[in-house]
Amino acid sequence: MSVRVRYAPSPTGLQHIGGVRTAVFNYFFAKASGGKFILRIEDTDRERYNDESLQDLYDTLNWLGISWDEGPDRDGGFGPYVQSERFDIYRKYTEKLIESGHAYKCFCTEERLEELREEQKKNKSKEQGYDRHCSSLSEKAVAANLAEGKPYVVRFRIPVEGKTTLRDVIMGEITRKNKDVSPDPIILKSDGFPTYHLANVIDDHMMGITHVLRAQEWIPTGPLHVLLYKAFGWEPPLYCHLPLVVGKDGSKLSKRHGSTSVREFRRGGYLPEAIINYISLLGWSFDDSREFFSKEDLEKLFNLEKINKAPAVFDYKKLEWFNGQYIRMKDHDELKALLMPILIDAGIIGNPPSEEEKVVFNGAFPIIRERLKLTTDVTDLVRFLFVDELTWNSDDAVPKKMDKAGTIEMLKIALELLEGFDRRSEEENEVHINKAVEEKGIKLGDLMQPLRVAVTGTKMSPPMIQSLALLGEDRAVKRVEGLLAQLKSEI
Ligand code: GLU
Ligand code: ZN
Repeated sequence: MSVRVRYAPSPTGLQHIGGVRTAVFNYFFAKASGGKFILRIEDTDRERYNDESLQDLYDTLNWLGISWDEGPDRDGGFGPYVQSERFDIYRKYTEKLIESGHAYKCFCTEERLEELREEQKKNKSKEQGYDRHCSSLSEKAVAANLAEGKPYVVRFRIPVEGKTTLRDVIMGEITRKNKDVSPDPIILKSDGFPTYHLANVIDDHMMGITHVLRAQEWIPTGPLHVLLYKAFGWEPPLYCHLPLVVGKDGSKLSKRHGSTSVREFRRGGYLPEAIINYISLLGWSFDDSREFFSKEDLEKLFNLEKINKAPAVFDYKKLEWFNGQYIRMKDHDELKALLMPILIDAGIIGNPPSEEEKVVFNGAFPIIRERLKLTTDVTDLVRFLFVDELTWNSDDAVPKKMDKAGTIEMLKIALELLEGFDRRSEEENEVHINKAVEEKGIKLGDLMQPLRVAVTGTKMSPPMIQSLALLGEDRAVKRVEGLLAQLKSEI
């Protein structure tokens, strides 16, 4: 059997990292098993649909390098791949279900259904949901209703007896009593639009989908889908429900935990390589130890056997760590090409950068490279090299257990030490500073913190001596004097 899998998003919001995990698992499973990966747009919910979400879907998958063998723009003979273009198909198959007695027209008005809900609530009735009122309408009654032009929906007849089992690669057999499946769900709405269940099942069948990989939150709809397959006389696909992606507190990953859309991660300085690697480990492992996987590795190694049942905790710190690792694995020119536009966008260098700005950036590159966790960190690391005037938050300059007066003394020592800085080598400057620290009986950190803040404006910066060398003695001295004056005026 040759594998055919699909990612079937509904474009109703930005691509969530959990949804993209589903896409990535489908993609890698298809690649690793020599099958086909299909992209299908489930846009039947026209109220929640929006164009921006659709664009975001394409942007996200393209950015990650996840390509599909068949989809809206790539016909593989099973199209169209957009559900709103398949309404005729859904209507045709609904007719078949009505003919075979598996579905029926329901003429109940919204008012009647509302009353029914109220009553069920009031009586705390065990019967929940639709009461199958129209399931036994005579042909004559149906014809009369139609003649009167009454609007109707089509409902799927859920068997009252028996059980339904779905086969799940990870969860094993999942069996539910049919009477526990919500009675007679709508499959075709009064405007002729299909609901998710009908469209999803018809399309998976017609597109030859062999395995349905989707998140565990879809398990409750599984029995209904299998019943639909049976009603059509079709063989259901093999299910593979993926573990949920949760935050540290165990609840479904949401805004409360941090960024959730891939777009936010992308804008926040994450690399696609890091995201692919990290999310492939959300519920899957290769063995007990290996952590690093390129996209090419996963295209060969991914398998269904190593998918977990237990929820996968999304660890933001771990993703950030992966990102730092991938930044350092990047070819230098490639990384520079990623960082430059960030500096341009932040207004730190011109567009296009001047020759001088390029020289300064190239000088800073070797020392900032080691410190980047996110590509966007570059702005804070190099800003001090490109601006003329800095502003200081003097509290940042004051080391622990010291006051402003003590900090002033440190800056005075720093001024002494800066004299002749440019004439000495890196090693000589290091010796020079360490010697002074020893002679004066002060702590290196107490000297460095005010100096770092004076020179760079932040507590975070690349290694001090190299930073000073990049900035040059004159500018460094001016900045130390500037902060000194500010501190003096503050006490
Ligand atoms: N359109 C559904 C979604 O938004 C697809 C669910 C499924 O994979 O069956 O996730
Ligand atoms: Zn009805």
